[in-house]
Amino acid sequence: MLDLTGKNALVTGIANNRSIAWGIAQQLHKAGANLGVTYLPDEKGRFEKKVRDLVEEPLKPSLFLPCDVQDDAQIQSTFESVREKWGKLDILIHCLAFADKDGLSGDFSGAPRSTFSKSLDISAYSLVAMSAAAKPLMTEGGSIVTLTYLGGVRVIPNYNVMGVAKAALEMNVRYLASELGPLNIRVNGISAGPIRTLASSAVGGILDMIHHVEKIAPMQRTVTQLEVGNTAAFLCSDLASGITGQILYVDSGYSIMGM
Ligand code: NDP
Repeated sequence: MLDLTGKNALVTGIANNRSIAWGIAQQLHKAGANLGVTYLPDEKGRFEKKVRDLVEEPLKPSLFLPCDVQDDAQIQSTFESVREKWGKLDILIHCLAFADKDGLSGDFSGAPRSTFSKSLDISAYSLVAMSAAAKPLMTEGGSIVTLTYLGGVRVIPNYNVMGVAKAALEMNVRYLASELGPLNIRVNGISAGPIRTLASSAVGGILDMIHHVEKIAPMQRTVTQLEVGNTAAFLCSDLASGITGQILYVDSGYSIMGM
């Protein structure tokens, strides 16, 4: 049975009720996990209020922490708070990415250096930094799950810089899985089909991508945040105890099609 009772799970990347991380957090909660939630802080505290209003009542997180993954000090203080409050961590959900608009449309070769490195920093390096901070807290083993997209292995129009970031992210999964396996810490990625969210709306032509999937995918539809959440809950549970270093596609089968 899928049971996460007694597991402490830190979930990053909830921006609103369309976020994939919101779907994941709900399914982890349903399976009995004790949740901690991080949010990206802004000067006026608007993101904090928005995320708090969304998660507080239904999920009752026992930790609610600011964490901008571009800031090493914030990563450190997030995991220090986890150590103080929980003592150990079992699950880390890395569900965040960012690219400036000029990295998500037009000619790929036109991407400015600053756009490229910022996207790689937030969307790929952050998994390495967070895993390093999680490692000493996963004293009874653990599961780290990140979110990726087909644009990291194939060319998808406009995905551009984010495609390179996802390719790096997927390789991070393999290197981290190799390093952390002896500690019984598993690291996997979920490659989700396109879903309308704040982040995906920045990708040029996202609606066309969704309509294309609805036409071509074997299941003739896109996936939902909760379906991705179910897969994340599975990967975090003992049911997936033999799975590490993998990228699992949750995409209505789209990625198997040649035409
Ligand atoms: P959301 O916009 O809901 O989530 C993206 C999250 O990343 C937001 O919470 C955002 O915070 C956060 N974020 C951005 N920059 C930083 C930072 N510096 N530090 C901390 N957090 C940051 O979009 P999705 O749910 O779509 O995205 C979640 C993940 O799923 C991403 O990795 C995305 O690439 C991946 N994915 C999405 C697909 C889709 O079609 N939607 C398909 C396949 C994968 P804020 O909004 O407050 O800025």
